Amino acid sequence: MTDQLAPAAACHSNDAPVIARARATRAERMSHPLARDVVRTVAVEHGACIRPVQLRRISVGTGECELVMVPCGATLATGGPSCAERAKALRARQCREGWHLEDEPALAPGPPDEYQKLLIAQLADLRAERDRRETGGGEAGDLDELIEAVEEELAATGLRGHADPGSNSSSGVPGRRHRSTRRRQDAPDLPRRAVSATTVGKIYRAPDGRKYRPSMFITLTCPSYGAVRDDGPPVDPDAYDYQGAARDALHFAALFDRFIQNLRRFAGFDVQYFAVIEPQRRLAPHVHLAVRGTISRSDLRKVLAATYHQVWWPATNAVRFDGSSLPVWHEASRRYLDPATGEFLPSWDEALDAISASDQPRHVARFGAKFDAQGVLAGSKDAARCIGHLTKYLTKQLGQCHEAHTGPQQLHAARLVAALEYEPCSLTCANWLRYGITPKNPRPGLVPGYCKGKAHRPQHLGYAGRRVLVSRSWSGKTLADHRGDRQAWLLEALSLPATDPSTYRWEPVQPGDSDYLPLPRRLLHALADRLQWQRMVAEARHRARDDLTTQLSATGRAA
Ligand SMILES: [Zn+2]
Ligand SMILES: [Zn+2]
Repeated sequence: MTDQLAPAAACHSNDAPVIARARATRAERMSHPLARDVVRTVAVEHGACIRPVQLRRISVGTGECELVMVPCGATLATGGPSCAERAKALRARQCREGWHLEDEPALAPGPPDEYQKLLIAQLADLRAERDRRETGGGEAGDLDELIEAVEEELAATGLRGHADPGSNSSSGVPGRRHRSTRRRQDAPDLPRRAVSATTVGKIYRAPDGRKYRPSMFITLTCPSYGAVRDDGPPVDPDAYDYQGAARDALHFAALFDRFIQNLRRFAGFDVQYFAVIEPQRRLAPHVHLAVRGTISRSDLRKVLAATYHQVWWPATNAVRFDGSSLPVWHEASRRYLDPATGEFLPSWDEALDAISASDQPRHVARFGAKFDAQGVLAGSKDAARCIGHLTKYLTKQLGQCHEAHTGPQQLHAARLVAALEYEPCSLTCANWLRYGITPKNPRPGLVPGYCKGKAHRPQHLGYAGRRVLVSRSWSGKTLADHRGDRQAWLLEALSLPATDPSTYRWEPVQPGDSDYLPLPRRLLHALADRLQWQRMVAEARHRARDDLTTQLSATGRAA
């Protein structure tokens, strides 16, 4: 440290005349990086959040207040590279932990505590009293409010579900509209097996007696819409089925659900998966799945062949409203009407009822016949490679995974977006008005082509669902649990006490508050926190290594 200070001290003791530093030119000054940019760069290098959120942490006991920076939690690189990378690493951990589980994840609910039992007893009394009064023709009075308060309290204790489902309506029976059974999905042509509650795969025994439980990595793609070139765009854009591609993308999530249902029914066990939706170069979605346990390729082929999703939506063959003559909102009836005739457009339910027995479903989504399936062993290089593949594009939107560089690529992306412009994306899509149908739950201001649904936007390529789909019993943990594991490991390794969250109260700090820090200052705080965390992790690893060395030398001595 003293060495670094020496030149400055020497400078003053020097007898040589002090030469004023020549004024730097503008170009020279501009060549120096901006301090703010450097802070940002260093923050990103160390994995600190670049848009930290400021909170006040108040000790419940002493009232002492501390400023705490919380990462913004962005999952996309454009939102915050560090947080996105951390989110991706967390997903990789979740994938890894669930993939080769050997024991069933513990999901059985624990016993209720005394307070929960007391609340349930109170709820029973109140409910019985309320129903007695109602049968006697009396008023419920304030009982409804009391019941609601007890239910809220029950939910606050962490109880899942409802003790008295449907109690919001006085009859207790939720009003449900039953549509004709004809619109149910046809049962696929698959043998039905009873699905056991098992979620882990079969164990195999190698000739040398070692046991292993292989898992699978599966990739499912959409069917062909026309021949495509290696870099994505179609060989003949005019012959490419953009409408089919758009509709398959819109219903991809539903098709995937159906596949999982069929797979479970066919495989006979509660198949668990960690799946990621990604675009192919031709911009059609495909899905990669890490699956626990194995299914043979021929069985997979059978399940795929039998899997389809029928979309029983009203037909959109005829465009009724285009350009300037658009349906008009009628406030009194809360419906849309045709401005030329003054007639109401059919409501959503009427349009559904008009689908006749002889009609075909508006769309049938299927996977393509080509699929990829490989067996993967726990802890192998293959497993690590597959997890890398699964999480590779998670910090990008679907539409940003394969940037369009060439003319044909740009044209292809534009034509797909154009095909999605007037496709109804959901029951509530504004585009239904274009075909003379009132969308479900209509509201004023709907204009075809201006639906706010994610699916229409270029960055989503028609798929508006979640990018990562994880089955319920994958790792038996939530993302927050996985995050907490790392923290717990660190505290244990450093023999630090865990803080009890109930001893603190948290408050957001707003821009108008006197203790509000501007972004550059928040960034410095976040960087300091991150550096501290990294030092702790380094120390914990160091100690773990030392412990291991001690253990090894101890066993060495013993032997
Ligand atoms: Zn962030
Ligand atoms: Zn829409």
